[in-house]
Amino acid sequence: MPQPEELLAALDPEQREVALALRGPVAVIAGAGTGKTRAITHRMAYGVATGLYEPTEVLAVTFTTRAAGEMRGRLAALGAPTIQARTFHSAALRQARYFWPQVYGTEFPEIISSKFSVLGPAARRVGLHGDTALLRDLSAEVEWAKVSNVRIPDYAETARTAGRQVADLQPGQVANVMAAYEELKRENNRIDMEDILLVTAAILADDERVAAQVRRQYRWFVVDEFQDVNPLQSTLLDLWLGGRDDVCVVGDPRQTIYSFAGASPRLLRDFSRRYEGAQRLELVRNYRSTPQVVAVANAVFPRGTTSGGVKLEAQQPAGEPVRYLSHSDEPSEARSVAQEIVRLHRSGVPYREMAVLYRINAQSEAFEEALGEASVPYTLRGGEGFFQRGEVRQAVTLLRGQARGGEQEDGALVSEVRAVLAALDYREEPPAGGGAVRDRWESLHAIVSMAADLAEDKPTATLGDLVTDLERRAHVAHAPAVDGVTLSTLHAAKGLEWEAVFCVGMHEGMLPYVHNRGEAPEPERVEEERRLFYVGVTRAKRVLTVSWALARKPGGQARRKPTRFLDPLLPADHESRRSGAPKPRRKTAAVLEELDAGDRHLFERLKTWRAEKAADAKVPAYVIFTDATLLSLVAHKPHDARELVGISGIGQTKRERFGEEVLEIITG
Ligand code: ATP
Ligand code: MG
Repeated sequence: MPQPEELLAALDPEQREVALALRGPVAVIAGAGTGKTRAITHRMAYGVATGLYEPTEVLAVTFTTRAAGEMRGRLAALGAPTIQARTFHSAALRQARYFWPQVYGTEFPEIISSKFSVLGPAARRVGLHGDTALLRDLSAEVEWAKVSNVRIPDYAETARTAGRQVADLQPGQVANVMAAYEELKRENNRIDMEDILLVTAAILADDERVAAQVRRQYRWFVVDEFQDVNPLQSTLLDLWLGGRDDVCVVGDPRQTIYSFAGASPRLLRDFSRRYEGAQRLELVRNYRSTPQVVAVANAVFPRGTTSGGVKLEAQQPAGEPVRYLSHSDEPSEARSVAQEIVRLHRSGVPYREMAVLYRINAQSEAFEEALGEASVPYTLRGGEGFFQRGEVRQAVTLLRGQARGGEQEDGALVSEVRAVLAALDYREEPPAGGGAVRDRWESLHAIVSMAADLAEDKPTATLGDLVTDLERRAHVAHAPAVDGVTLSTLHAAKGLEWEAVFCVGMHEGMLPYVHNRGEAPEPERVEEERRLFYVGVTRAKRVLTVSWALARKPGGQARRKPTRFLDPLLPADHESRRSGAPKPRRKTAAVLEELDAGDRHLFERLKTWRAEKAADAKVPAYVIFTDATLLSLVAHKPHDARELVGISGIGQTKRERFGEEVLEIITG
């Protein structure tokens, strides 16, 4: 068991304050990468080490099973393996299972593992025939209503005021499905995930004896990621506390990206009002990213936007500037990202330390293809590759069947594709709202766009040609692999970090994502999307690139603008720097080809030296010098410190640190 002082020594001054605040209500407002988990795990371990906390009396709650597991691991390493670290669900389930038979005298009901099995029949019961995408959206809506304490009779009205939209359904229809769903569950004595929390809350609220027993068990409460807490979870927390106030919550108001699922950032903002005498502490030192990345993160929130949150202070040494790249079209954006990934990999960054982040799943296709072409392994986080998705497979099958069977008119490819996809309920206009139904539409729409591109290149293109093209793309993009580059939506990237991050497809309309064409998104939605952008950029440790394409397809009109969230960041002369693929790098490869034997040898020696430096400093090689800088050295062969000044990529710091050694290698 570590000494209390040892635990404190591992923390910075602000984190230490958190650890020392062992009693009473505490709210820690912390930015991305500031070591939230580190601070609260040390706090709990410190409480145990000083003898104030009995470890079995501490309950730490997080949101995902992964996060709970990580917290248990860290607590064990800090000498407090018996502290309970659980998700809200698992903590509630344990209590509900234990007390149910005592309170109700019956066996605990069966828990349905997914809502689909009940929602399908429920939808049919009220005359709706939906596919999986619709069921997924209905399931999300049922969850939202339950965690937001919205009762079914009130649903339609509340949904209207809150601007909820489930595919093309009317709120009344959704309420009918909800009622049928609850009925079916009751008939079969089943409960779902949210019922677990509702049941636990009901038992604690109604049974004084049970409540007293639970409150005797747990005296100290900690909640991580508090900005994601929903009203139902907050109710449960209140019941656990039962009027006491030994609770510490940690959160980042700038990372609330799940309001549509019921998360209520107000709970964090109002914490001090609800708990009298609450201490408010801040963590602002960012240990994850370079000052360049941190500066971008801070600039995403100009005054007057998202209230709350902290300005980050970088702790890492300086790195490369963040790059903003505008491309002529989507395929060239994807190719450029793939090239850059290959370059970084060559300079020593492992593939698994890189990520490509986008707003919606349908954006992955271009990148899967470009990475496939470049033989770069990749994995999709929390989703399937474009050509593995159900609707895409169905579409390809239908198109293939039609191509075999039918006669075709010249020049009618796109309308034919639309006609075939109509069998999958594809319409030209997108469905209202976001969600799975919209995602599915975006996938099918991407196929129609591919057909349009093909028809433009070759006006006589047939369905058969399209199928061949789709098969080629599927084949190229087939290579999902472990330890590869991560492809992920911004949402699914929360909490993770990589050496190099590419935020792609960042144009107006995509970010903030526009649900209804031609309609400006509401201000609250814009703020949620701003926070999503913040989550994206703060995943990067050293290399960050933000890019967009001015047109969807090659030769298309350059109509798009970069996301408004870049407004404070793009230099005024950005127009002039708009390029396709970053040109200097293309030159790098070419220059390397043209070197004579002597120069190539010098280049290799510089690379060997760089690898040693990188290993010593425990940083990727490109942090020491990029390939371009090495080539520039080879080309100019500077003889003294003064001549080093002209080499791009060698500023004063690097000149002082590496100048002598580099000159020695060059002058032999
Ligand atoms: P996010 O908001 O993005 O989820 P976070 O606040 O949870 O971020 P962590 O992931 O816990 O941040 O920490 C970011 C990185 O900083 C980790 O690698 C962590 O080990 C490191 N770190 C945290 N505190 C310190 C410290 N006092 N000294 C050195 N490194 C630290
Ligand atoms: Mg975290």
